[in-house]
Amino acid sequence: MPRVLKHQPFVIRDSGIQGKGAFATRPIRKRTWIVEYTGERITQEEADRHHHEASTHTFLFTVDEGTVIDAGVGGNDARFINHSCDPNCEAWVHDGRIFIVARQDIALGEELTYDYGLAWEDEDEAEAFGRYACRCGARNCRGTMLVREKAV
Ligand SMILES: [Zn+2]
Repeated sequence: MPRVLKHQPFVIRDSGIQGKGAFATRPIRKRTWIVEYTGERITQEEADRHHHEASTHTFLFTVDEGTVIDAGVGGNDARFINHSCDPNCEAWVHDGRIFIVARQDIALGEELTYDYGLAWEDEDEAEAFGRYACRCGARNCRGTMLVREKAV
């Protein structure tokens, strides 16, 4: 097992990107395993069903082809970490579990972000684009949380 921080080094509060976000309560070094992304493990089919009911599925994290973690059920604070196209964290899959890892040194007070890299599904592009619009403000912002190929 990777060594994950025992004490969560961030707090949840209102974010300029969207809704609530996670903000560092102390400096975090590059390559630190910050927190596990937890939630109920469901199948892809269950996730697709859920997806049709919900307006967005940003609380759903695809682990592999068959498994999705639904942070909307039993999820921890990791679910509040916002998407950015120029993120300071990455989501790593280890043994079927997901961990948020610092990809660079992070300063006190900085908002934690990672690239959701949501799969661009076979649906109307304009509709999907609007639903998963990105307001991260990065210079290289794609304008959407979607990517053509899965980033997992
Ligand atoms: Zn963006």
